[in-house]
Amino acid sequence: MNIRIGLGFDSHSFEEGKILKLGGIVIDFPKGLKGHSDGDVLLHAITDALLGAIDEPDIGELFPDKDPKWKGANSEIFIKEAVKRVREKGYRLVNLDCVIIANEPKISPYKEAIRENLSKLLEVEKEKISLKGKSREGFCKEEGIACFCTILLTNEG
Ligand SMILES: [Zn+2]
Repeated sequence: MNIRIGLGFDSHSFEEGKILKLGGIVIDFPKGLKGHSDGDVLLHAITDALLGAIDEPDIGELFPDKDPKWKGANSEIFIKEAVKRVREKGYRLVNLDCVIIANEPKISPYKEAIRENLSKLLEVEKEKISLKGKSREGFCKEEGIACFCTILLTNEG
């Protein structure tokens, strides 16, 4: 079986008055995430895992934050491009496992909506996507959200 594994990581600190989005879902919270695009840390980590699995340049190389084109950009653009490249190389997703590290907000009320949206973006069944929230427990000094994810791809079946 020809398989490829991808690992993604991203972190952003909070910014007052910005809309918080995780996995493309708007979260009811007074702060958003700092960043050139919409700051969707989960979509950025998944995009990087997809790109890493197929040996493509990472998100920062494909969508440089110095490029004004990506200012305030919807991060769904990034993940869609990564999914397209995965397809072009003949791979499909076996499963995705994500950890969102945040002391606040609580992820659990949004978990199903996020999985639903990710399954649309990745064009796979929701059952192939796992998502869990963890508190920071001292990891990262600055207030914000970090995310790790691993992805498995295959070019069979
Ligand atoms: Zn990011």
